[in-house]
This record gives sequence, C-alpha cells and structure tokens, in this order.
Amino acid sequence: MIKLEQVHKYFHKNHVLKGISLTVAKGEVVVILGPSGSGKSTLLRCINFLERPTSGIIQIDDLCVDAEKAHKRDIVSLRKYTGMVFQHYYLFKNRTALANVMEGLVVVQKLDRKQAEQKSRQLLEKVGLGDRLDYYPSQLSGGQQQRVAIARALAINPKVLLFDEPTSALDPELVGEVLSVIKQVAEEGNTMIVVTHEMNFAQEVADHVIFMDDGVIMEEGTVEDIFHHPKEERTKQFLQRVN
Ligand code: ADP
Ligand code: MG
Repeated sequence: MIKLEQVHKYFHKNHVLKGISLTVAKGEVVVILGPSGSGKSTLLRCINFLERPTSGIIQIDDLCVDAEKAHKRDIVSLRKYTGMVFQHYYLFKNRTALANVMEGLVVVQKLDRKQAEQKSRQLLEKVGLGDRLDYYPSQLSGGQQQRVAIARALAINPKVLLFDEPTSALDPELVGEVLSVIKQVAEEGNTMIVVTHEMNFAQEVADHVIFMDDGVIMEEGTVEDIFHHPKEERTKQFLQRVN
C-alpha cells in the first residue's frame, strides 16, 4: 500500500531524514517510536507533502511520486490518499463537530450535503460522539475534540491514516478514550502509521515497529523483536527511559 524509498529531508543544512525506506502492507499498523527530534513528525509530513521531501520516492497505492519531480496534481492526490491526525486537534472553532467532519466530504469529495451529513453522523457515532453532533470544539473536552479529528480523518476514506502523537497533548484521564478509538480503527483493517509514546498501546496495535533515531531507521521488527529483544544499544536505552 505504501512504499518509501530513500526519503531525505533537509531543513537548510539540517539533514533531518537520512534515507528512510519502508513499506506498509494494506491493513497493516506500523508504529514509529523514537526520541524527540529524531524526525518522526517530519517523516509523516513528508508522506503527504505537508513538508516536501528533498529527495526520494513516495508511493501510495497506484500513485508514485518522485519528490524531485512532484507536480501539483500528484500532491493533491497524495493529500486525498492520506488522513492525518495531529497532536493538536486543529478543528474549525466556529463549526460544530458535525460540520467539521462534513467539511472534507463536501469540499474534497463533492458529496451533496445530505449524504455528507449522513456519513458524518455515522462516523461521529463510531467514535462515541453521536450525542455531541451540534457541539462546538470549545464545548468539547480535549479527548472529544481529538475523536472528532479522527472521524474527520476517516471521512474521506483515506488509503492510509497517519497519527502524530495523537494523545500527547491530552490530560492523562482523556488518553484512554482516544487510544481505544484508534485501536478500534486499527482493528477494522485500516492501514495506519502511528507515532506514539504510549508503549502499552504501541504493543497492542502494532503489526510492525520502527525505532527512529537521528533521522534513520535504527531498528525495526515485530513487537516481540523491538520490545523484548532489541538489538541496538540506542533502542534499549530509549525503551528503558520511557518505561
Ligand atoms: P520528532 O517528531 O521526532 O520530535 P521532528 O520531525 O519534529 O522530530 O524534528 C526533527 C528535526 O527537524 C528537529 O531538529 C527539528 O528542529 C527540525 N525541524 C522540524 N520541522 C522543521 C521546520 N519546519 N523547519 C526547520 N526545522 C525543522
Ligand atoms: Mg514530533
């Protein structure tokens, strides 16, 4: 479903991604771990060209984009193929939960309002917010806002969902409700890449675990490989620190 080949990203002279290659199969959940500043967010943002990779190839399904030759229409397509959930929710503050989820369906997918509304209602019910359709973001808890953001990302039926530390801005008591929605989304067979520091959650959802350090994939493998038999000293140190 997804293939990255030799993705590099420089911010001026700062070489942040140093040749990242990875593949994600359809329905697979890949969890990315790594210390702050290792390039995890930049990698996710390069997949949908929120940051333009300096070089490398990004392939999602039938679309293959060479970063150095990417056209505007390739980037528009990549955006349609990906749904992203950020650390901060980025909802439209002056729109209800329902209107936030409907937005992409009406604007991007050109559904008529009635169909868009029906689909959005279903998605909000799925994330446990069927009784909050008409609430504005300011009337929702952080956990509820993040669940709206997940419903919104799901709305356009993306080929891959990208989660960038979706619970790290939440109060501790709200983390669980968001993780359980993400887990449910994972169990429904969605293809996902998840950056998280929630180690128990990571072990529960991951089909494949990647440990990033200083712009490279330092080590990768199954949950068993990475959490129970890490080979690299850096991986061992990181896991000791976060546990
Ligand atoms: P992580 O998500 O693993 O904490 P990031 O991808 O956010 O790491 O950052 C990796 C490196 O890239 C850091 O050194 C950071 O300062 C730098 N960086 C990230 N975004 C930008 C940007 N927009 N402009 C310049 N430097 C950036
Ligand atoms: Mg980050």
